[in-house]
This record gives sequence, structure tokens and C-alpha cells, in this order.
Amino acid sequence: MSEALANLLNETRQFPPPAELAAHANVTIDAYAEAEADRLAFWAKQADRLAWSKKWDEVLDWSNPPFAKWFVGGQLNVAYNCLDRHVEAGLGDKVAIHWEGEPGDTRTITYAELHELTCRAANALTDLGVTAGDRVAIYLPMIPEAAVAMLACARVGAAHSVVFGGFSADSLSNRIQDASAKVVITADGGYRRGKPSALKPTVDEAVASCPSVEHVLVVRRTGEDVAWSDKDHWWHETVETASAEHTAQPFDSEHPLFILYTSGTTARPKGILHTTGGYLTQASYTTHAVFDLKPETDVYWCTADIGWVTGHSYIVYGPLSNGATQVMYEGTPDTPHKGRFWEIVDKYKVSILYTAPTLIRTMMKWGEDIPAGFDLSSLRLLGSVGEPINPEAWIWYRQHVGRGELPVVDTWWQTETGAIMISPLPGVTAAKPGSAMTPLPGIVADVVDDQGQSVPNGGGGYLVLREPWPSMLRTIWGDDDRFIETYWSRFQGMYFAGDGAKKDDDGHIWLLGRVDDVMLVSGHNISTTEVESALVSHPSVAEAAVVGATDPTTGQAIVAFAIPRGSTDISGDAGEQLIADLRNHVSKTLGPIAKPRQIMLVPELPKTRSGKIMRRLLRDVAENRSLGDVTTLQDSSVMDLISSGMSGAK
Ligand code: ATP
Ligand code: MG
Repeated sequence: MSEALANLLNETRQFPPPAELAAHANVTIDAYAEAEADRLAFWAKQADRLAWSKKWDEVLDWSNPPFAKWFVGGQLNVAYNCLDRHVEAGLGDKVAIHWEGEPGDTRTITYAELHELTCRAANALTDLGVTAGDRVAIYLPMIPEAAVAMLACARVGAAHSVVFGGFSADSLSNRIQDASAKVVITADGGYRRGKPSALKPTVDEAVASCPSVEHVLVVRRTGEDVAWSDKDHWWHETVETASAEHTAQPFDSEHPLFILYTSGTTARPKGILHTTGGYLTQASYTTHAVFDLKPETDVYWCTADIGWVTGHSYIVYGPLSNGATQVMYEGTPDTPHKGRFWEIVDKYKVSILYTAPTLIRTMMKWGEDIPAGFDLSSLRLLGSVGEPINPEAWIWYRQHVGRGELPVVDTWWQTETGAIMISPLPGVTAAKPGSAMTPLPGIVADVVDDQGQSVPNGGGGYLVLREPWPSMLRTIWGDDDRFIETYWSRFQGMYFAGDGAKKDDDGHIWLLGRVDDVMLVSGHNISTTEVESALVSHPSVAEAAVVGATDPTTGQAIVAFAIPRGSTDISGDAGEQLIADLRNHVSKTLGPIAKPRQIMLVPELPKTRSGKIMRRLLRDVAENRSLGDVTTLQDSSVMDLISSGMSGAK
């Protein structure tokens, strides 16, 4: 960005917390002042929410930045904190996971059972030669064994590297090799879109080029035939027959807990390393604070896949360390029907729902009649993560899922940050739709200009973090130089997140998309997010993606791709008329500078496997180039549809 980001969107709606929630909130406004008075003491207090075998000597060692050490000298076991201590406190019979398979099969797993399974898995891993400091790759569908596998690794001190089950053999192989994993834990397959979807053949292909792999542990989920080699062991013959006795050994606070590769939305994925004490402290505290989780009464559901950081922090470590009861769902939101999510909320009486803007916009496209067909009265709090949420999608979520009264927490964070960083507190913040609002207590975030100077309220620029935080990444696995270069070189002494942001007149933070996606139109930096939000605020649009394409007069021109809402007629002249209306609508909402040169109505948008819009490919289409790397696309046929329609678009 050569200049500050233009500040175009003017959103003034604001929603105070429900009085009842505010009166009983886990965290009150005092937390901000407390953290401001003494940030390290604040985090030490949150670390005390966990069980430590040995107390730390020093909260933070920042003597060798950007390499941080948190809770130096402390020792703990993450699995002990997520399981044993709840069982020891008499909560063994409490449900940890209500699991729902895509075909409709279910399992109810108590804390005692999850503990027992994890102990068996820890013993089985030890028998296979896994010791503290080793790496284990996990390539599983959304079945309880995924959580068990992660917790078993944590229990024996092996770092897990979970790879999303939708990735190809090549992607899996690269990640196994990068971390030199010794064992791979997988399944014969899982269920997707009503059919078994095989995983084991992908692992076989990947492992063929991974000499580090000594054993492959295979869960039987679908019962389909699989090829077998002498490295392979069935989970039910290995884990389920192992001893259920296992004493968790404490590890150093900075012992590696996991490696997770970023989603790959922008570049070659990076192996982000997280460690033990600081990570669990912040994952656990933010679950308590941002979701106001009451373990005695809430039923929590995070719809992410365990292969993404959201699944790590807000399915496994955050909720389980707090002793939550949660729902885990294996499949897709439209199998066997488009109301599946709402049916699950209704069935398990889910009270806290955490999902992604891509899902909310998909639900908008399908129409509000679908959630209206289910009893969603158990819900009391809604969350969003993964991309900027357009104000209109936020309003739709609150209105049609949240009865027009529930708080929505828009949570900004990254694989690298390990846990939520910027978000409303549900009992404190009067939230604005589309804004992540304020850094959480103990987090020091800012928006700076090109020179690293804090921008005034009303200004836009780059999102940075000014102080280290407990769950921060410690490095990129095996590549300290890339760690420094990617995150700590752009601005002296600050972590550069790679996202554009603005501060509104009240100082609240609005995420404006990736810095790489910002458009430069006639000398003005314009955010993709703001133009997309303007399009989504039109009643006929469910979802939109916007890119800057080279233009002889304006430098870059705005090209937009929009998905119409369910019932919209876009045939012939009606389509032309809608495009004209949309161009005018954007111009009216944001100003003429933001009027798209071209809008195309499309049935789908290219998304990464984590559900994020991939603007890079749309830029290729808009500039008539051949497409770049499409391997991280969820569905590559989407691009054929878009490219073939592009020629006729104006
Ligand atoms: P890669 O770094 O490989 O390109 P990625 O950035 O998509 O992949 P993640 O760590 O899963 O990988 O995503 C973090 C990014 O997602 C953030 O940097 C931001 O761009 C976006 N994001 C997440 N939550 C929000 C939010 N609430 N509002 C706006 N953007 C968000
Ligand atoms: Mg990223």
C-alpha cells in the first residue's frame, strides 16, 4: 500500500449485549483495565486457570525477540489439563463429545471415556516407538478419534501435525516430509456428501515418498476395502487393545505441542509451531472469555474441521481444557438436506455456535426459510471466524439464527496467533456488524501506516501486534529465517499480520482483507472487503468477491463476481438490469471511486479448502491470464464455470 487505505464503508448500527448475559458474563469490562495495569500479571492469572506440575519462574522471556518464551521453567501436560483433571474432579460421567456422523450414526463420549481412549492411544503410540519430541501426522475425518489422536500425542509429548482430510497425496507428503513425521494416523475414509470418501489410498501414495514414516495407524470408519502393508496397523487392534492405564508426564512450558500448516490462501503453506504452556493458557482463556462458556450448562458447537487451527484451539484444546460439552459433526452442511446444521442445533440443544462467514453466506443464498424450519431457541451466543464478515451477513446471522437478539462475536486471529486476538466480549461490547471491535484484554494490536506509525481514528493501514502474546507462534518449523522475514521484518519490533485494517471514529478495528488483495484505483487504496460488503448489502446478493484488474486509465479497475440470493431472477435482461443496479448500488454506498468496472453473476466462487475466497485466481480470470496454482481449491470445476461465463460479461 503506498497510501493509507481509503475508509469508505459507513456502518453505524450497534448492538449492546443482552442484559441477562451481561449480568452473568464470565468476563467483565474490568479485565481490560486489569490487563492494561500489568499485562504479564494478567496472563499469569489466566495461566493459573490450568493445572501445572511445576510453577513457572518467569512469565515472559523476551530477551531474544522475536523468539518468545512464556511461563519459563513451568511444566504441565496438556492432555492432563483437558481430561484427567476433570475426571479427578468427579466429572467423568459428563458428556465431552456428542458426535454426529454424516450418515446419522451417533456416539456419546464422556470425559471418562475420552480419557480412557486417550490413555490407550498414548500407550499404543509408545509401543510404536513414539517418544517425546517426535512428530506424528494426523490425516483423519471429523471423528472422535481425531481428538483422541491429538490428545494422545500431547500426552506423550510428540508434536502432532494435523493435515486436513481434503488435501491431496502431494500436499500430505510435503507436510509429512517437512516435519519428518514418524507415524501417520489415518482412517479407511470418512463420509462426505452422502458417500464414503477414501483416505487410506492417499496416505499410501504419500507415504511411499516419506522415508521417515515407520508406522501407519488406521481407524476403521467406512469399512471399505483398503490396501495393506507391513507398516499398517488397525486402530481397533492396536489402540483399543492397549492398556487404559497411563500416567501423563509433565513437559516444559515451551515443549512443542503441534505444527500446523497455514491454509495456503496466499502462498506456500508455512509450518507454524506452537508450544505447550502459553498456547493452552490463551486457547483456554479465550474460550472462557469470548464464548462466555459455562461448562455446567452450555452445549458448544464449533463447525470447523479439526485440520484447521480453529479445530485445534476451539474444538480440542479450548473447550476440553474448560470441561465443555460439545457437538462434533463429520459431514457437510447440505447432506442429506440444507437444514442439517439447524437440525443438529435443535437435536443437541446447542447454546453456543461458532462458524465461518462462508457458511453464513451460503445459508443466506439458500434462504431464511431453512433455519426458520427448526427450533433454534437453545442458542444464546453466535461466533464467526475465518474471513471478514460482511455487515449484512452479520445481520442475517443475528436475525435468522439469533432471533434478532443474540450477540455475535466476530473473532479475528490466525494460525500464527494460535488463539483469538481481536473480538467483542459478549457481555461487555456493543458490537458493530462487520467489526472485530477491540483487542482482547492482554493483547496489544494496532493499525499502522507505511512507516509503522499508529494511524489516527478514522484511518486505515496495516494490522500489527505490538507486544508478544502467550499463544504466539514460536517459529516456522525448521525455518527461523522465514519466520523473521515473514512476520517481523516489515515493521521494526512489531508482528505484521498481513491483513489490512482501519480504525473507525471510535477506535474500533475493522479488518479489510489481505494486504496483497488491496486494490489501487486512480491512486486510492480500496479494500476488497468494503466493496464486497457493499455488494452483499444489496438484497439480491448473497456473496461477492472483488479483485483489482490492470486498467489502462485507472491503474487498476474493480472487477466483481457476485452470487445472487436463492430466488433472484437473472435470466436475460433481468440479469443485465441487476448488474446495472449493483454498480449503482456500490457507487451510492461507497462513492463513485468504488464503482466496479465490471460485475459478473456467478453460481459459485473459488474457495480454499478452508472455505476462504481465493481472489488470486479471480484476478487471473479478470486479467485474461491462464490460471495459477489451483491445488488448494475446494472444487476446481468452479473456475471453468467462471472463466467460460467471463467472455460474455460486461
Ligand atoms: P495463508 O497464510 O497460508 O495464506 P490463511 O491466512 O488463510 O492462509 P489462516 O491462518 O487459517 O490461514 O487464516 C488467517 C487469516 O484469515 C487472517 O490473517 C485473516 O486474513 C483471515 N481472518 C480470520 N478471521 C478473520 C476475521 N474475523 N475477520 C477478518 N479476517 C479474518
Ligand atoms: Mg495467513
